[in-house]
Amino acid sequence: MFNSYLENTLQYYPEKCINCLMCTQVCPHGVFTEGKEHVELKSPASCMECGACAGNCPVQAIEVESGVGCAWAMISAALRGKDMDSDACCCGEDDGCCQ
Ligand code: SF4
Ligand code: SF4
Repeated sequence: MFNSYLENTLQYYPEKCINCLMCTQVCPHGVFTEGKEHVELKSPASCMECGACAGNCPVQAIEVESGVGCAWAMISAALRGKDMDSDACCCGEDDGCCQ
């Protein structure tokens, strides 16, 4: 099991994966990539915890706490009608999701 709690809340259980590739299609950051028997994590640190992969995985092979991190910061900022604090950004990339 992969556990990236140091970076974000994304957890992946490859032993459950049936290789449907749904997560590779819905992830906006290309975190998952095609593998031989199951998908592989290509860039787990890029996960912005939007929850799309976990919500679309038919066998619960992915868990992520959406409502925290970068995606949540953007939603909160939009609800407040303010720009997002740069401190709240988790991606730390010039071309990341918060640009
Ligand atoms: S939670 Fe969103 S950004 Fe993170 S791996 Fe899943 S689809 Fe990609
Ligand atoms: S959505 Fe779930 S079952 Fe489908 S490839 Fe991704 S991890 Fe595997």
